[in-house]
This record gives sequence, C-alpha cells and structure tokens, in this order.
Amino acid sequence: MVAAEHPDAVIIAAGSTPIMPEFKGIKLNNVLWVGDACRNVGKVGKKVLIVGAGNTGAETALSYTKAGKNVTVVDIQAGAMIIPSWTTGLERLLKENGAKFMFETGLSEITADGAIVKDKDGREISIEADTVILSLGFRPHKDMIKEFSGIAVQTYVIGDNNRPNSFFEAARDGYNTAFIR
Ligand SMILES: Cc1cc2nc3c(=O)[nH]c(=O)nc-3n(C[C@H](O)[C@H](O)[C@H](O)COP(=O)(O)OP(=O)(O)OC[C@H]3O[C@@H](n4cnc5c(N)ncnc54)[C@H](O)[C@@H]3O)c2cc1C
Repeated sequence: MVAAEHPDAVIIAAGSTPIMPEFKGIKLNNVLWVGDACRNVGKVGKKVLIVGAGNTGAETALSYTKAGKNVTVVDIQAGAMIIPSWTTGLERLLKENGAKFMFETGLSEITADGAIVKDKDGREISIEADTVILSLGFRPHKDMIKEFSGIAVQTYVIGDNNRPNSFFEAARDGYNTAFIR
C-alpha cells in the first residue's frame, strides 16, 4: 500500500515493543507489564514487586507508594548506574514514601505468591507480592524498519522506533526529520 503511493520519503515511526523475557512464571495471573499496570490500577494488589528501576519503573513505584501500596523494586544494576535521578530526587522520594529497593538483584522466577530474585552474591530471596510488574525497557519495532525500508529513496527511522526514549525526543526527531533534513 505504501509502495503504491511512490513516496519520495518514508518516515518510520512505529514505536517500540516492551521487553518481556521468558521468565519462569511469566504467564501467571499476577504478572503485568508496566504499561498495562498503569492503565488497569484496579488489577494491582496491595503488595507490589516492580522489576526494573528505570524511569518508568521508578515513577510507577512512587505513584503506588503514594497510593498506600507496599512496594519493592528490584534491578539487576547498581542504583547509580540506572538513571541520574536515582542519585538525586527520586531515590529520596521513594525512601520517604516507604518503597523498598534492592539493586544488583535480578528476577529469577515468578511464583503464584510473588517472585524469587537472586542478589549479586548468588543468594536466592523470596519476595511476597500480590502483583509482579515488569518494567524492563523497550526495543524498537525492527520488523517495521525491514518492512518499510527501500520503498523510497529517503527512509528515516525516528522516535522510539529508532531508539526508545521519551515524548520529547520523539517529537524532536519528528521536527528535525520533517523540517531540517
Ligand atoms: C508506561 C509508559 C510510560 C511512559 N511515560 C513517559 C513519560 O512520562 N514521559 C516521556 O517523555 N515518555 C514516556 N514514555 C515513553 C513515550 O511513550 C515514548 O518515548 C513515545 O511515545 C515515543 O513516541 P513514538 O512516536 O516514537 O512512538 P509511539 O508513541 O509508540 O507511537 C508509535 C505508533 O505507531 C503505531 N504503529 C505501530 N505499527 C504500525 C503500523 N504497522 N502501521 C501504522 N501504525 C503503526 C502504534 O500503534 C503507535 O501509535 C512512557 C512509555 C510507557 C510505555
């Protein structure tokens, strides 16, 4: 359909897809992708484990702690490695609101009553949770790039389809591509 239009340029802006590795237990009813958790707050229980402490995971943790939920956040990286805000305001806000976080700790398995995580020394720890929320980042829609490349002389891949980032970066990419390139 796009090829039939004989476009001079194609701008591919099909976004990204959440990274959801095949952890044991990922199909259990107590597991939600962070975007679905934000849209369906009623499905999120009182005790919450958030896996992934990037911007999205951390901000989701803050909103749930403020709503009175018992929140634990785990991330396989050290805190300061994740995002600058961990060393500035967000970490303080999370602590003040009672969130617990465990860095250098990775998810091993999701169970019916929570999850098993492994710390940097290889110790396995069980965490009780009604809901396990996965916030493990995004990867570009590579299939879209393949599908729409080569149709026009000029092809641009922008926004999250190029590199998952933010509203601002996606809008800036769009402006730069449409008006400057
Ligand atoms: C839970 C969550 C919270 C976030 N919070 C923030 C935040 O607070 N601040 C911030 O800056 N960013 C935030 N982001 C990131 C932000 O949403 C993205 O960086 C931004 O939306 C990227 O814009 P985009 O236009 O590149 O892609 P998208 O917004 O993903 O848009 C891509 C569009 O392409 C469409 N599409 C896909 N395939 C096709 C096809 N074959 N044909 C036609 N259309 C197609 C999709 O349906 C979609 O509408 C958040 C993301 C998530 C998931």
